[in-house]
Amino acid sequence: MIDIPAPLRLRLDENALVHNWRSLARASGRAACGAAVKADGYGLGATDVARRLAVAGCRDFFVATWAEAERLAPLGLPVSVLHGVRAEDMAAARAGFARPVLNTAAQVARWRGAGGGACDVMVDTGMNRLGVSAEAIAGGLLDGLAIETLMSHLACADEDSAMNEAQRARFSALRGATAARRMSLANSAGIGLGEDYAFDLTRPGLALYGGVPRADMGAMIRQVVHPEAQILQRRRVGAGEAVGYNATWIAPAETEVAIINLGYADGYRRAFSGVGAAMHDDVMLPVLGRVSMDLVAIDVSACPDLAEGDWLRIDYALPAASQASGVSQYELLTGWGRRAERFWN
Ligand SMILES: *Cc1c(COP(=O)(O)O)cnc(C)c1O
Repeated sequence: MIDIPAPLRLRLDENALVHNWRSLARASGRAACGAAVKADGYGLGATDVARRLAVAGCRDFFVATWAEAERLAPLGLPVSVLHGVRAEDMAAARAGFARPVLNTAAQVARWRGAGGGACDVMVDTGMNRLGVSAEAIAGGLLDGLAIETLMSHLACADEDSAMNEAQRARFSALRGATAARRMSLANSAGIGLGEDYAFDLTRPGLALYGGVPRADMGAMIRQVVHPEAQILQRRRVGAGEAVGYNATWIAPAETEVAIINLGYADGYRRAFSGVGAAMHDDVMLPVLGRVSMDLVAIDVSACPDLAEGDWLRIDYALPAASQASGVSQYELLTGWGRRAERFWN
């Protein structure tokens, strides 16, 4: 195979990742701070993320599926599988490289039937997504299970909603109701709600990767993902001429345009059409017209030095990019495809 350097890359800032985890650990008070690395570490690469956070001191990792846990197995870290155990997962679950987070009475029975062992349990406190009920726990569902962590998940932690306190109170009432060694409630946004929400272990995902779920957390979180794309062509577009599909942008005056190697098939969403931007030095360079599958047009009139083969940074500060595009910060992270080369520095 010939090594072909990609014309699109995600620069991943290792120091920012570790800084974010440390900030979240500090904000978690006495609670331990874990890391959600599901969806391949929110698109960055789960192994690369977990290895770096383990060095920083993180000891609790969360993935969605057993296939994700298996990919982390060589690191030998404590991993919990949030979706629990289907019948099809039992062989992997018994192999011992991760713990299931049991979510239903059937999963509890399946785990007991296979001999039990260390597990986590999710209890629903009002989100009505995954989890057993508090009533089932009171009825003895979990009696005798070797529970490491009893957890629940907040539905509205990124808002100031009465539901946060209601969920916290319901969860807190379960203290002592099971043999669980630890209790865990807060995701990234939940950490921002204060130490009352941290219990024994927090589970941030988004904020590790530069997402800011609550405006009041902005100062503690640094951008981690920096997309960079190469210029494939530079052209001069005359006044009155159009750029891109459906000719949605018409040059009001003669404009210098760079066509870069980036598109919605890479994860740069079509919602950035006409509202996204690239950066060169500290100059903001607007996206012109529609984002194509593999290409984007950028106004480079302000940068006469930029030429074919040069690289442009994409403006991807998550809170602002989400605001501009209407796409959630989660989707802006997890949408990046395989064509973008990831590199850490
Ligand atoms: C994804 C997830 C997290 C992390 O949530 P963020 O909002 O990304 O911080 C924590 N707990 C559970 C159960 C999750 O599914």
